[in-house]
Amino acid sequence: MKLAPILYVRPRSEAELLDALGRYGADAAVLAGGQSLMPELALRTRAVKVVVDINHLPGANRIALRWAAGSAGQMESLAAPADSLGQWPDGMLHIGPLVRHGDLLRHPLVQRYAPAWAAAAAHIGNVAVRNRGTVCGSLAYADPGGELPLIAVASAARVCLRSSSGVREVAAGSFFAGAFCTVRRHDEFVAGIHVPAAGPNSFHFFDEIARRPTAPALASIALSVNPIIGQAPSVRIAVGGVSDRPRLLLATGEDVSQALRGMAERQSGAEGVGIALDVDAIHAALRAELTPLVERDDAVYRLHLAATLLTRAVAALRAFLDLPPAMPYPGPLT
Ligand SMILES: Cc1cc2nc3c(=O)[nH]c(=O)nc-3n(C[C@H](O)[C@H](O)[C@H](O)COP(=O)(O)OP(=O)(O)OC[C@H]3O[C@@H](n4cnc5c(N)ncnc54)[C@H](O)[C@@H]3O)c2cc1C
Repeated sequence: MKLAPILYVRPRSEAELLDALGRYGADAAVLAGGQSLMPELALRTRAVKVVVDINHLPGANRIALRWAAGSAGQMESLAAPADSLGQWPDGMLHIGPLVRHGDLLRHPLVQRYAPAWAAAAAHIGNVAVRNRGTVCGSLAYADPGGELPLIAVASAARVCLRSSSGVREVAAGSFFAGAFCTVRRHDEFVAGIHVPAAGPNSFHFFDEIARRPTAPALASIALSVNPIIGQAPSVRIAVGGVSDRPRLLLATGEDVSQALRGMAERQSGAEGVGIALDVDAIHAALRAELTPLVERDDAVYRLHLAATLLTRAVAALRAFLDLPPAMPYPGPLT
């Protein structure tokens, strides 16, 4: 099918963009990579009167690193100072509205300070989709099986929303309001994403289960430990695909944090390191936390996929820590 007649607007500056969004409101849609919007318009599953193409906004494809602590001018430096725990203090990666999925795979700042984003982007669609689709577009689209919405929640990213009345920043965990639904207003556009810089001593794992490589994930998981070495590891675990939006599993993450803290204490007292990170206990935490959030007919199946992915994540963490493999996940959660 072909598109219905539509007004095409191509702003050359942010002021023109905000003016168009303010004028046309709910009748308008931002066009970024077009990988989701154009099929929707062509298939007429979505109807808008105006398309506002942001592909000609100057400087919108920028990835930059900022240090919050009194160093506003210090950008895009790879020579960042690390503190005693090996963390980057106050580092924030800014991802502009026209940064493509493929840029995440290639950009040295992403590889160094946001490796989880690069790992997740590798699972998106195919090369053509990754070369056109944008990171901000993926968040605005809010597909529950999308890789980048999950990573945004897992990495405590903040979404920057801009309109003619000003700028507001929303934590990724609060940005997604349901399947294909966000808290963005019609007069706002996603002007960028701010990602806390991961430290050099951090661990990141991403994996997913999908019917085919170009299909959205049936279930996906992101687990990060920052820092992996030290007395106060902070573990974040988020699960995608199983619910109407990515879910951060605070209690399950805290269980893994406690196991890592216990290991560090035992390590200083010599023995028992290998018995920590008990997979059964972590599965129980996942089931308790995730079950109430999965309101769908195939909930048992989705929870089983999430548990399978958690097993893989813990196995990868154990291997990273040089621990012997744990017992495999025994079967579906009931
Ligand atoms: C074959 C194929 C396979 C795919 N596989 C995957 C996959 O495995 N995983 C996955 O996550 N995605 C997948 N996608 C979708 C792809 O990642 C899209 O690129 C992404 O979902 C939307 O990004 P976009 O830049 O193309 O946005 P567009 O299609 O241009 O826009 C999508 C929606 O977001 C809005 N929007 C876009 N940018 C902004 C902005 N800056 N501010 C406000 N609103 C905005 C648009 O108005 C529209 O409503 C696939 C797509 C195709 C065609």
